[in-house]
Amino acid sequence: MKQTHIHTILIANRGEISSRVARTCRQMGIKSVAVFSDADRDAPFVQDADMAVHIGPSTVSKSYLDQQKIVGAAKAVGANAIHPGYGFLSENADFAELCEQNNIIWIGPNPKAINAMGSKSEAKRIMQSNGVPTVPGYQGDDQSNDLLKEEAMSIGFPVLLKATTGGGGKGMRIVHQESELVGAIESAKRESKHAFGSEELIIEKYINSGRHIEFQIFGDKHGNVIHLFERECSIQRRYQKVMEESPSPVMTLNLQNKMSEAAINAAKALNYDNAGTVEFIFDDKSGDFYFLEINTRLQVEHPVTEEITGLDLVQMQIESAQGFPLSISQENLSVKGYSIELRLYAENPENNFLPETGIIHLFSVPKINGFRLESTVKSGSEISIYYDPMIAKLIVTGNNRLQALSKMKYVLENLVCLGVTTNQRFLLELMKHQDIINGEYNTHFIQNEFGQHISFDTSVEFLHECMICASLYQWNLRQQKRTLLTHLPSGWRNSPYQDQFDKYSYKEDEYLVNYKSTNNDFHFTISENEYIINDLVIEGNSVQFTSNGIRKKFSIATDKDSVYIHHPQASSIRIELQARLPLQDSEDEKGSYIAPMPSQVISVLVKKGDQVTSGTALIVLSSMKMENTITAHEDGIVQDVYVTSDQSIPSGTELINIKSVE
Ligand code: ADP
Repeated sequence: MKQTHIHTILIANRGEISSRVARTCRQMGIKSVAVFSDADRDAPFVQDADMAVHIGPSTVSKSYLDQQKIVGAAKAVGANAIHPGYGFLSENADFAELCEQNNIIWIGPNPKAINAMGSKSEAKRIMQSNGVPTVPGYQGDDQSNDLLKEEAMSIGFPVLLKATTGGGGKGMRIVHQESELVGAIESAKRESKHAFGSEELIIEKYINSGRHIEFQIFGDKHGNVIHLFERECSIQRRYQKVMEESPSPVMTLNLQNKMSEAAINAAKALNYDNAGTVEFIFDDKSGDFYFLEINTRLQVEHPVTEEITGLDLVQMQIESAQGFPLSISQENLSVKGYSIELRLYAENPENNFLPETGIIHLFSVPKINGFRLESTVKSGSEISIYYDPMIAKLIVTGNNRLQALSKMKYVLENLVCLGVTTNQRFLLELMKHQDIINGEYNTHFIQNEFGQHISFDTSVEFLHECMICASLYQWNLRQQKRTLLTHLPSGWRNSPYQDQFDKYSYKEDEYLVNYKSTNNDFHFTISENEYIINDLVIEGNSVQFTSNGIRKKFSIATDKDSVYIHHPQASSIRIELQARLPLQDSEDEKGSYIAPMPSQVISVLVKKGDQVTSGTALIVLSSMKMENTITAHEDGIVQDVYVTSDQSIPSGTELINIKSVE
């Protein structure tokens, strides 16, 4: 077998997987080329590759799915290989052939294997003739409604109708009784025709208590096939995976031997020569398992396998495509630790998981050992209407399952993603669920446990503290503005912000937030609850304060009147600013002097009742090793001094009040 040297790889994809492939290219000394559409011009993945080629409009059919454009881009930059990632053209045998016709190495399995697995009926037939167990069902050519009905009846309810050329759960229907059958066949055919251009269906026995367990397989061009153990992906929503873990909580050595043997047989039946995944449905009740399909590409969830095996699957793909034999044998493979992946989506769990779009103003993740982030975004990125709303994949690995779960919980509590609504809180609730902790679940788990209408509880006190955070953040911004306008250090200004009112709404309720600052504190009243807030520190998007003796740290981002706040207690929430109602300046407030940044009071030079003239030194502050002397900007009498020497004060503290005498 001739080996070909790959020097430049064009990545025919976008988002996190484009960045992921580019990373391995770099490590292998291979040049990477990203492609991007209009909407992705500023996306981080474009920067992650060594080169990038613009391939057209945002609509996928005119960019990421346009085969000629992509091959043209590869030729234009001299790329001699294409990695398709997942989705888009990754399982398109015609595209794989087009690459080869253009002397571009296709980093994926041979087009024949892709083709065979593109049809669920043919895939099942091949598996059956190679001794791989398949779900009892019908996968024949006769597609008349009468015959389909007859077959379904003889399989026995419940049955599952599937689009033969389908994917992503589209065109699937569970049918529980005869009366639903014809209607379901007709609508599944319609949906399938619309989505995949073919109305052909297969029918399967529906496994009521099924777990989705898949095996990562790997082949080379020399006939070697190995498996890299299993991943369990039973936690799904609308047949789409939400959580993936490896090893599976139900795996035993005996089961692993049987399933991996079936997976390898399946791969060998196809002369499989790259990365692939053999999916099975495991019947929780009987312990039997059945072949579902082979995905002929790198999977979204490949990182969990990488974490427990220590292998780089993208590197292995590239090596296989170059014609190298597999560099590792089955006997040398072992599982180390436990890995879990969750998919963070821009979607609203409280609104039937509808996708969300918008700008992610703030994105940061905690840095802990064993946490791997595969992400599409950075602060300032946009989640557009054009593409899948996945923001990031969160992967954690621990010595055992409980440790991995607890790390994932920590990651979810401390991940900051502000600006669009995400499923972060939902994922957190998932991690806390006792059945998940016990590993006792099946593919119905989300539907059964969370149902159609999800609503997260938020404690009143926490909500109030978020509003306090929002008001103090806005207040600080106004302070800064004022300070900027007056050019420090003479910017010690009148204070129009004693006794402020902000009005917020959260979900259907409105909240009136009343606050004023005294010496060192802020006094807040919200719905008759009083809060004394001190130790305020605001740095960038971080707001810290002490409330009720407990120090709290929030992250905050605003977008017009929407305020997004994160605190580990409840992931993030969004409140809406209704109105800010500053009171009219009172005479008193006119003479207030304010500290524009956190400071130390060095000395107070005047006392209550003293007469001062414009320019009299009043208070000396120190901040960031610089001294500032506060001077009176008009003649007057000291009404009140609010600070004392040696005191540390947060930004915005009222220092002194002087009544002017004209
Ligand atoms: P797709 O190609 O649309 O992803 P799959 O055949 O891979 O379709 O099935 C997707 C999901 O549907 C599986 O992960 C599993 O949860 C469920 N499923 C598929 N076939 C069956 C079956 N026969 N019984 C029960 N659940 C099934």
